[in-house]
Amino acid sequence: MGVPDKILTWQMIQPTSRNKKTGEEIPGRIEKKEIPVPELKPGEVLVEVAGCGVCHTDLGYFFDGVRTVIKPPLTLGHEISGKVVAGDDAWVGKEVLIPAVMPCRKCYLCKTRRGNRCLDQKMPGNSLGIYGGFSSHIPVPNIDLCEIKNRGSTPLEHLAVVADAVTTPYQAAKRAALEPGDNVIVIGIGGVGQYMVQMAKALGAGVVVAIDIIEERLQKILSYGADFVINATGKSSREISGDVKDIRKQNALPVFGWKIFEVTGTGPGQELGLALMSFTSKLVIVGFGLHKVEHSISRLMAFDAEIIGTWGCLPEYYPQALQMVLSKKVALEPYVQTRSMSTIVETFHEVHDRPREKRIILIPDF
Ligand SMILES: [Zn+2]
Ligand SMILES: [Zn+2]
Repeated sequence: MGVPDKILTWQMIQPTSRNKKTGEEIPGRIEKKEIPVPELKPGEVLVEVAGCGVCHTDLGYFFDGVRTVIKPPLTLGHEISGKVVAGDDAWVGKEVLIPAVMPCRKCYLCKTRRGNRCLDQKMPGNSLGIYGGFSSHIPVPNIDLCEIKNRGSTPLEHLAVVADAVTTPYQAAKRAALEPGDNVIVIGIGGVGQYMVQMAKALGAGVVVAIDIIEERLQKILSYGADFVINATGKSSREISGDVKDIRKQNALPVFGWKIFEVTGTGPGQELGLALMSFTSKLVIVGFGLHKVEHSISRLMAFDAEIIGTWGCLPEYYPQALQMVLSKKVALEPYVQTRSMSTIVETFHEVHDRPREKRIILIPDF
């Protein structure tokens, strides 16, 4: 441990693009670089990265034309755990999570507990200068760090996924005002969705119904918080609503008050979410996509129902979300795998071609 003399990093030199005339794809470039360690400003620390999770947002930046706030070259990666090696003495030596969203703490939104959607927020691997988590080290403000204490046998690098994949569902549950006993439906149980299921159950949800199109996933989630699963393959929203109705009837569950989390960000997922709305239900949009859906919004009036969006997670919720993991109420091990960071380019391609069952955490091997 100690202050390094340089930062080694996998920098995105340029994202994938297309030749405007020929339409031909110009491959994106990620290269290993050495950058100087910046002089730390007051309130900043240098974190030695233990692991950084590969998130769909990173792939959006690299493959799909989603723009980063800071123009490339910059380093991607915002799902980071590590150890503080320099800066504020009170932090040096501590193991930490770096929140994916770091609010300004000064604006109106920040002062009214909506800082997760602060307009001046910083995100590693996007708007925090050139620095992201696919590096040996990253300089960050210490104010938002979440200290990891008593992690027992859980590897520090595995905890990286808490910084985004686990905390996003936690915030979504808060946003939905999820109360013990509430009945829940989760649409899409991939990287984030399966934590949505686990988190809802850990927060005391009554019945949790998980919907997906991959049977293996559905069978697995029955051991991690789902009470019922529905395979949506080849079914219309109407047919799936019928399946939910059957579950409700067979288990004497109410028609009202369901909290529905849409995590796929796809057209069919969103249409299904809308179709499942009923009396006093809340539809929470967790996934992102560019699809447009048509809906009779008067149903909201008739049902006294709500549709809400949720973004990131407030840093002040991180300790609670972390505790859910450390107390084993939310399981990481079945849903993570680690690889060397030098596989970053192949890993990006693989995950972009076919989303993985287990979140991939890249471990620095410079
Ligand atoms: Zn992310
Ligand atoms: Zn703010």
